[in-house]
Amino acid sequence: MNSKESGAWIKYFKLKSVSFFLDIARSQDYIADRAFNFIVFMLEKTMMKSYLKAGLFVALLLLMTNAMAASVNVYSARKEALIKPLLDQFTEQTGIDVKLVTGKADALLQRLKSEGMNSPADLFITTDAGRLHRAKAADVLQPVSTDVLTAVIPENYRDPENYWFGLSIRARVITYIKDKVEPKQLSSYEALADPRWKGRICIRSSENIYNQSLVAAMIAAQGEDKTQAWANNFVSNFARPPKGGDRDQVKAAAVGVCDIAVVNTYYLGKMINGKDAVQRDMAGKVGLFWPNQGDRGVHVNISGAGITKSAQNRTAAILLLEFLVNARSQHWYASVNYEYPVREGVDWSDTLNGWGKFKADALNLSLLGQNNATAVRIMDKAGWK
Ligand code: FE
Repeated sequence: MNSKESGAWIKYFKLKSVSFFLDIARSQDYIADRAFNFIVFMLEKTMMKSYLKAGLFVALLLLMTNAMAASVNVYSARKEALIKPLLDQFTEQTGIDVKLVTGKADALLQRLKSEGMNSPADLFITTDAGRLHRAKAADVLQPVSTDVLTAVIPENYRDPENYWFGLSIRARVITYIKDKVEPKQLSSYEALADPRWKGRICIRSSENIYNQSLVAAMIAAQGEDKTQAWANNFVSNFARPPKGGDRDQVKAAAVGVCDIAVVNTYYLGKMINGKDAVQRDMAGKVGLFWPNQGDRGVHVNISGAGITKSAQNRTAAILLLEFLVNARSQHWYASVNYEYPVREGVDWSDTLNGWGKFKADALNLSLLGQNNATAVRIMDKAGWK
């Protein structure tokens, strides 16, 4: 190799290492910056002393060490089975290791709060915009603005100040016992306050964030007074004091406790597709009704995530967040829990296709958090246990 050729080689390698390290730097800012500077320094040396091979060796070694060092810590209120396979794919594609801590949504938020800036978490994944709002209000998240997140996630499914981003959508629907209720008797959440439903409705407790968000959406649509009047009558139609989760409402309806159960779509999806034959049978007794299709649309909510305020691996966490909204991840993430992708143009699972298309409330979900305290007050006043 003459000196002209080796000069060209060095130039090529420098350019390559620049792009390599810019990529890696995105995932591990600090170490990569250091390593990058060092490699450029080494190359300069090798150029002068013609120790090209030694330079290449050091560059490679540093590249490997750095890739091994890159990691991101996730606190997830979603169960491991609903997120881990995606995190593994992310690691496979980027070389960035993901450490996952799972737990109950409220407990994880409490942990983030008490750990403060010492928290090892970089990304917080949870369900319900109301909870994401609480995390933002508790000052454990930080805003991030990226072209990918802005382009892919519809505006109403992310925080206006970019503290949190929706990852999947779920709808809170009316299910009804097919033998006892005609779909044409149903129309909206508002109509469930009608005396014809006295003693016929099952719904979980007002302590549950899903119901708080449902009422928060009603406040946004029609104001406090109308929502209070609705809640008073709606509660008087309950078949029993609220107890259990969403699945328990469908089960209660199936055994004759009530004729209507208000539940999130994915619970029904899980019952229909689950291993438990009794639950499959129970779910088979109910039909799914999309409320408010003639006006604002069905109440929808999200699972979502935000970068923590304490994030040490901020850039890697953003890369992961962007990975979670790519088309492939979106299909898997939504399908595995019978949810809807937050990204448009992504295929739905068969169960969801079977339920058909629907009109969703276009409300900006940040309002669910903003109206939460008022919603809780209204429910308390209405005697919703
Ligand atoms: Fe849930």
